[in-house]
Amino acid sequence: MVKKLVLAVLPILFSYFVVAQNPHLSGTVNVDLQTGQITCDFNLTNIPDLGKEYQILLNKGFNIKHLKNAKGEMIAYDGFYNGKMRGEGLTYLPKNEDKVIENPKQLEINYTGAFPIYANEYNFTDFKGLIAFNGKTLRAAEQSKWYPIIYDVKKDQLLEQVTYEITIKCSNAAQIFVNGDQPKPGPEAKFKSDVAIAPLLFIGNYKVQQTSNALFLNTDMNKAQLAVFEMEIAEMKAYYQKKLGIPYHTKNVIIEHTAVEKFNKGRIWGFATYPTIAIAGGNLAETVDEVNKKFKDSTDYPFYAHEVAHYYFGNVLQPNSTLFWFFLESTAEYLSVKATEAKFGKIYSNAYFKNACLNLKNFKVVPLNKITEINQIGGTYRYNYGPLILRGLEQMIGEKRTFEFLKACLKAKSKTTDYAFFKDQALLSGITEAEWIAFEKQFIESENVTDLIKY
Ligand SMILES: [Zn+2]
Repeated sequence: MVKKLVLAVLPILFSYFVVAQNPHLSGTVNVDLQTGQITCDFNLTNIPDLGKEYQILLNKGFNIKHLKNAKGEMIAYDGFYNGKMRGEGLTYLPKNEDKVIENPKQLEINYTGAFPIYANEYNFTDFKGLIAFNGKTLRAAEQSKWYPIIYDVKKDQLLEQVTYEITIKCSNAAQIFVNGDQPKPGPEAKFKSDVAIAPLLFIGNYKVQQTSNALFLNTDMNKAQLAVFEMEIAEMKAYYQKKLGIPYHTKNVIIEHTAVEKFNKGRIWGFATYPTIAIAGGNLAETVDEVNKKFKDSTDYPFYAHEVAHYYFGNVLQPNSTLFWFFLESTAEYLSVKATEAKFGKIYSNAYFKNACLNLKNFKVVPLNKITEINQIGGTYRYNYGPLILRGLEQMIGEKRTFEFLKACLKAKSKTTDYAFFKDQALLSGITEAEWIAFEKQFIESENVTDLIKY
């Protein structure tokens, strides 16, 4: 039965990968862990034809040396003066005599920049979009735009996933890792991925540990601890796979790193760049109960389940547009509650929703159908309130059909994830027009649904 499901899904994934054209990144990266300097000499090829409706994004901390066309000729660009930002990046536009170059296909781009080193010092915040040096390691996820990212203006989509073949040099690094390839010893190594993926960097002096299904970077766990960790993650993957019908076989990479923000004891923070999960704030070895074969703190289970769920909402479906945060975070959080409920029972999910409702009693939201700007869905909205909307849907149509809805979202190929998408996928998954209207009235249009949630 499971096998059949898997086979049915494959052609969909296959056609998805064929249709999407991902840029290819080649060249060299020089990193200095002592000065925080990063210098890149890249060739970006296989740029999809977006006409003039594109931008090149690069972290604001970099200075471009020059931009060249496919013939190696230097070209002009907009953005070096009074440039516009998009998230962490400055936006650049290649020009030819004042006109935007249409469909450049290939660009050579050289740039350099230096970033602060937080060795026993801290910033007020750390997040996935930061290029973080801490004296021991460099961490740079795709969100930081450490490499040039093409932005598709019409679809409002960042083409963060690239195929790549790059050389990384870092004279003071024992290990170099680029997401999509294996970690390799420094000071210089070549990395390659023929599958489009987000090339997160983790470079520095750390240990690599391996199990049959996962790689652990910068951890210090014994064999038993590694096995427990791997088992817990495998259980979550198996649950999602069964419920969502899309296989998740890729080996995970778990990175333990030190944030550049001070974390008080007990606080952990994670982010996912499929198939890597990065964790800050603790010693992973200390979180495992070897005797009872589980995480010591039961809240670690939903924490990791959330990150694992980002394979589905974040990678299989790459949200964009107005409901970006809802389709990225509220879905992953809802799934983590379901995965944890499957492990610990309804007592967990009831307590989760009860707690969320109490905390959010006075929280007012802009209803999802009135969102016009992605950041109207702030942190509390996306992580804490959004899951209540999905819980509301579950209350109305049941768990099974809620998963059918989530499956429909995952099957949608490069669509705009706005409110119309929400409704379209709901109807496609078998929710009737009447059910949708009732759901919309109760759980969407209300500015606070906490009174409606049952637990
Ligand atoms: Zn998340």
